[in-house]
Formats: sequence, C-alpha cells, structure tokens
Amino acid sequence: MNSYSRLSHLQCTRCNAVDDPFALRNVCTRCQGPLYARYRLEPLSRDSSAGRSRGMWRWHEMMPARSADEIVSLGEGGTPLLEAPRLGATLGLSRLLVKEEGGNPTGSFKARGLAAAVTCAKARGAKGFAVPTAGNAGGALAAYAARAGMPAHVFMPRDTPPLFALECATYGARVILVDGLIDRCGELARALVAESGGALFDVSTLKEPYRVEGKKTMGYELAEDLGWELPDVILYPTGGGTGLLGMWKAFDEMEALGWIGSRRPRMVSVQAAGCAPVVRAFDAGLEHMEKWEGATTYASGLRVPKPYADAEILRVLSDSHGTALFVPDEEMQEGVAAMGKAEGLFAAPEGGAVWAAARRLLATGFLSKDDRVVLFDTGTGFKYVR
Ligand SMILES: *Cc1c(COP(=O)(O)O)cnc(C)c1O
Repeated sequence: MNSYSRLSHLQCTRCNAVDDPFALRNVCTRCQGPLYARYRLEPLSRDSSAGRSRGMWRWHEMMPARSADEIVSLGEGGTPLLEAPRLGATLGLSRLLVKEEGGNPTGSFKARGLAAAVTCAKARGAKGFAVPTAGNAGGALAAYAARAGMPAHVFMPRDTPPLFALECATYGARVILVDGLIDRCGELARALVAESGGALFDVSTLKEPYRVEGKKTMGYELAEDLGWELPDVILYPTGGGTGLLGMWKAFDEMEALGWIGSRRPRMVSVQAAGCAPVVRAFDAGLEHMEKWEGATTYASGLRVPKPYADAEILRVLSDSHGTALFVPDEEMQEGVAAMGKAEGLFAAPEGGAVWAAARRLLATGFLSKDDRVVLFDTGTGFKYVR
C-alpha cells in the first residue's frame, strides 16, 4: 500500500460505479457522470503536513500523485488568505477575507487543477492533451504540458482577450481560435481527441477526475489558515464549478479524517448577468441546468453556458444553505476598482464579481456585517487588458 498517496479508487458521483484509479479515465463508463477520486480515510493527523513546504502537494496523502517524483509542478497553491479590512469597509463587512489566487503560476487557480490533471494523465500513459477553455484553463494546460514535455491543443473562443492565446502559444501549445463559446470548443476538442486514436487526452473540467483534486486544495488551505475552522460564507465565481465542488469535497474529506467538525460554510455561486445557468436553475429549484443561449460577459471564466457537473453544483448550493446570484459586468468593474484601491489587488473581473455579489447579499440580508466571508479572487487582472 502506498503511504505517499492514499488514493484508493474512482467513484461516479451519479451512479456510484467504482473504477480503477490507475487507468487513464475521463467520465464514468456506465453513465457518463463525473468521476471523483476516493482515498483511504483511516486516521491521519492534521499536523502531518505542518513541516512541509507550502503549496498544494503538501496534502499528498489526500492527493492523487503516487510519489513526489511523479508531480508536474510550477509551484502552484499555497496562496495567501488576506485579511481585507479596507475592502470590508467598502461593503460594511467587519471580517472580510480574500483568497488571492492570482499569484498562482499562469495567473489563476486553474494552475491547481491542471497541475493535478497533467500529473495524473502523464503517469497513466497519456501522450498529449486537448482542452476547451474560456481563457485561463488553456494557459494552465499549456504551461503544465510544456513542463511535462508533452504537446497541448487549446480550443478557445476567438473573442477571448488576446493575451490568453498569446500566453498559450508562448508555452508552445497549438491554439485553435473558435467562432463560438466554450461548449463549441469542447465539441471540437472531443473530435480531435477521437481522431487522434489515443494520442491525445481530453482534460475538460469534470470530464477527467483530477482537476477537481487540484482545486480542492483551496479548501484544505482555508481550513488550515483559519485554525481548522471554516468561514461562514464563501463567495465563488462559478463557471464550470470545479473549485466549488472541490472545496466541498475537501470539507467532507477533512471531516472524515477528524480535522474539522460538521459545520460548513454557506456556498455562494456568483455568475455574470449575461451567462447565469447556475442561478436560473437554482432559483427555479431544478436539479439540472439548461444551456444559456447567447452567453456574453467580459469575465471570460464565467462564460460557461452549461456546466457539465450541473446536478453536483446545485446540490452543494442547497446542502450548504447557500445561494446563487448574478451581477452585471459594470458592477464587476466597480469591484475590480474597489479591490485595487482598497487592498492593492489587481483582480480579474471574476474577482470583482464576488465583491459586487457581496454588496447585493448584504442588501438582501443573506450576509450580515459580522459574518466571516471569504471572497475568491480567482485570477490576475493582467490578462484581461485589451
Ligand atoms: C475558470 C475561472 C473561474 C471559474 O472557475 P470554475 O471552478 O470552473 O467554476 C473563475 N475565475 C477565473 C479567473 C477563472 O479562470
């Protein structure tokens, strides 16, 4: 038995079918549901990682790499959880925190997911990669593929701000600019993968098991940085929902390990007015999402018309007594300006969106001024400059 990683099996989130964690897999072969990595949950001291360097692989027992040598890394994770008193004052929140993800390699938290996905796919025999992206996932895949010495094909909407494609090309990836949104990019990526006869592996989010493992480490970091307590509310800008699901998974794992209790934050999905499939389904009390037609927003990470893990996202929002709301692009810009001026952060519009969402949720009474609230600033604003 491996003591570096406790990875034990893959499990379908929908039909619970079990699969081999050491074979290259996309989704459940029975029902096409997202596969989750499962671990042996015998006791483990939460202090076991205390002496290890910061970064997302410090939780290696609960991560999928079988050895340190296997890991493809650029130093991802271990981002700061910043107290933000001046930003809190702009809203009237007394205990505001910002999880600042813009310092990750490639400038966003996509680095966490793609580091884990590339690590695992390489170890399982993948020879190259393809990914559809709204922007940051492409850059992260391209960087980690380069780091692994493997080719990457990135499908990106043509109207994504130009730096996103330039970044991918700089890492040596082939960039295919698509007249359409991420769902169209996904179709083209799947076709290329099918044509490649096994030469390429599709790393679309939640259509392979390990991007969510990378992003779950944000949940471990939050708990550790808050002395093994969780905040009252987490505001998360939601596209595919990978980080939201990942953190929720991390909370369950930590409770099973005895690291935290059963108290959970209320989880809030923040979306753009021009693309809000999560909000629409949540408000209607549905269990699935319909594709959002004509999606448009400057926050490219939120331009996901139909998240693949729709049922899973909606379940987390309701189980956590959370909510979902959208904000218009102008309010995101206000948020970016507020975060810059109050705390010296150059936020992505997705980060600005959660600030604007907090203001709305205070107005409705969902948030009260003494709640411990964590805003996720998921990426740097630098790439969005036109
Ligand atoms: C991808 C992305 C998001 C959305 O993340 P999901 O986990 O897919 O919901 C939010 N912000 C930025 C900057 C992103 O790149």
